[in-house]
Amino acid sequence: MDDASIGSFLELLRFPSISTQPEHRGDVGACAQWVQARFQTMGLEAELCPTPGHPVVLARNAHRPGRRTVLIYGHYDVQPADPIEMWEHPPFEPRIRDGVVTARGATDNKGQFFAHMLGIEAALREKGELPINLIFLVEGEEEVGSPSLVPFLEANRERLLCDVIAISDTGMVARGHPTFSYGLRGLTALEVRVTGPATDLHSGIYGGAVANPAAVLARLLASLHDADYRVTVPGFYERVRPIEGWERETWAALPMNEAAIRELTGVPQLDGEAGYNALERIWARPTAEINGMGSGYQGPGSKTVLPAHAFAKLTFRLVPDQDPIEVQDKVIAHLRAKCPPSVRLEIERGHSGAPYLVDPREGFGSAAARALKKTFGGREPALVREGGSVPIVADFKRILGVDTLLLGLALPDCRIHAPNENFPLENLEYGMRLNMVLLEEIAAA
Ligand SMILES: [Zn+2]
Repeated sequence: MDDASIGSFLELLRFPSISTQPEHRGDVGACAQWVQARFQTMGLEAELCPTPGHPVVLARNAHRPGRRTVLIYGHYDVQPADPIEMWEHPPFEPRIRDGVVTARGATDNKGQFFAHMLGIEAALREKGELPINLIFLVEGEEEVGSPSLVPFLEANRERLLCDVIAISDTGMVARGHPTFSYGLRGLTALEVRVTGPATDLHSGIYGGAVANPAAVLARLLASLHDADYRVTVPGFYERVRPIEGWERETWAALPMNEAAIRELTGVPQLDGEAGYNALERIWARPTAEINGMGSGYQGPGSKTVLPAHAFAKLTFRLVPDQDPIEVQDKVIAHLRAKCPPSVRLEIERGHSGAPYLVDPREGFGSAAARALKKTFGGREPALVREGGSVPIVADFKRILGVDTLLLGLALPDCRIHAPNENFPLENLEYGMRLNMVLLEEIAAA
């Protein structure tokens, strides 16, 4: 990887393009402009498309009839860097140590989509043109559920029509081991707020006669699971597709085991739904997660308060063929049924994304597998599902009618969404070469 390309990557990482925080709106816009300018420097036609939220950057080469059209998708927005104090250096001042770049967004998703940009740049430099008609779409709202992208896809459907979509925003099973993700979990979010008294009360004067919202919320949250870690919301598992025999066998042979997951996460012991191993739980079983909660006094020492309210932020990871809105409805009904009349319960619906599954042995899938194998020195790609969500994949299928090839470059220890997120320069190089080989293979498929 040449110094100019690395320097350019570091420039991209310096934008604090945090889509969820209003104070970073300007940074998100500046990052989009940088991406647009970079496409133009490469010799592509690139535009900044405004949306009600953050802009979409759209680039293309000169399309010619008779060639396949490939849409490459990425996102330039990033997660917040909190907790800042856990970072070894400021999250938007990238550092390189032992060939690994550390910065917020290094893996998710700047390193991965930038690798594709470098591949296209190299192909244009070496051959003067690409083997396919290219549409490169980079959005700025992936980390907040892509609210503007679906309307954008619908409004621009004609000029976004393509044969296949490629995305690098998923994981690799191990360093140097090419990985083809043929399934994704979906997601649906809810915020729960329990309100009791009009203001915080003295816990001595009123405690015992007035319900404590923190205690009520704790009971509600505990009611989401049974002792076997199964989700207790009635009907939650109704549409869950069972894991197939060939999947169990393939996954069991992967170089990922429970000890490795324990070591990566630092937990004393793994835990989860009874009857499934860790990979099966993460890739093919749905979950209920508490992402944040708060209530009462948070300062030093003690304060004998009966808090006025308590809140929790929840997300549910979903698998085929669960429907996010149907799950929201079921969870809301469950919580309402469990909530005592001594408090008020408000539930706000958050963003959603459908789960996704594509047959890994058909269509452009085999072209992707060949490209992965060639890029990684002849090694057979691992066929995996992914526990995370890329909701836009299901939207692409629905609106543009095409499959998505998920060719991830994220390593298991890349710490996405966490402090000290990192991406090895080796993967920037792999991604660049993968892009070049993939476009050749798709052109020939
Ligand atoms: Zn992310």
